Amino acid sequence: MDIVVFGSINMDVSVYGQRLPRPGETLHAERYVMALGGKGCNQAVAVHRLGGRVDLVGRLGDDVFGAMARRQMAELGLDDEYVAVDPEHATAIAMIGVADDGDNCISVVGGANLALAESDVDCRPEAFGRTGILMLQLEIPLAANAYAAARVRAAGGRVILDPAPVPPDHSTLSGLLAAADIVTPNEGETETLVGLRPQSPEAAAEAARRLQQLGPAVAVVTMGAAGVFFATPDEQGFVPPFQVAAVDSVAAGDCFNGGLAFALARGDGMESAVRFAAACGALATTRPGAAAAAPDLAEVARLLA
Ligand code: ADP
Repeated sequence: MDIVVFGSINMDVSVYGQRLPRPGETLHAERYVMALGGKGCNQAVAVHRLGGRVDLVGRLGDDVFGAMARRQMAELGLDDEYVAVDPEHATAIAMIGVADDGDNCISVVGGANLALAESDVDCRPEAFGRTGILMLQLEIPLAANAYAAARVRAAGGRVILDPAPVPPDHSTLSGLLAAADIVTPNEGETETLVGLRPQSPEAAAEAARRLQQLGPAVAVVTMGAAGVFFATPDEQGFVPPFQVAAVDSVAAGDCFNGGLAFALARGDGMESAVRFAAACGALATTRPGAAAAAPDLAEVARLLA
């Protein structure tokens, strides 16, 4: 079964220095790294690394960062057939400052990601009309997401929504949540959406029940190093965390979602798919980077064994 990711593609420019500059201050930092990012792109890379068939639908600007993003996609083996060049908007970037003590600050320019629209769905009927699973996140306009979800559902596909980053006024999400089959918030997103922080499996069970009332038949509450709780109309359960030596939690959620979609696409049941996804999320924390941290199938199989 095919997977389509509709979402953001960024170039992440990370600058590493002793400490972060204060407002008005200029500091000499030590080094910088320019890497592919954006939740949509990270999710697509995660599926691809596992060997899944995935199409990423997004936009890049007609600029140097767009060319760099495309080259990095090619190096990762990710197909860019459905990544359009937007002549009017710049490639999205995230400027990330990282201090020695791990403190960071991030400015994101949404650029071409924020120009994604219904037309990006309409001009790719072969992707949205046939996919078994559509993966969505919230770094592109809500209207485009809702339109894509409706299109895929009408054709019989399933929609996985990672509600990240969650807007402060979550009432704007009600239409999209109603059009999603599976929702995968982390702790903070869950608290914003249902007013309850899932700090124990019992609290997560209650939060999942409240999430299901917002529309999705399946709620998957991720709790970082504390594991993950899932609820479907027929079953629910807590999947304990895999014990790993975590060094960088960036993109754990993206790799979790990629793993979930991959496992569901090959026919796993929900519990097995969540366990598989949790292994992917755990492995992603053992290496630095976003897309670059995604595990391959052999690594996941070893952790699951
Ligand atoms: P996000 O990156 O969206 O905040 P989480 O931090 O909740 O998402 O991570 C997603 C999933 O990845 C978790 O539910 C868990 O299964 C796995 N995971 C994340 N961090 C760890 C960790 N330190 N140890 C083991 N598993 C982890």
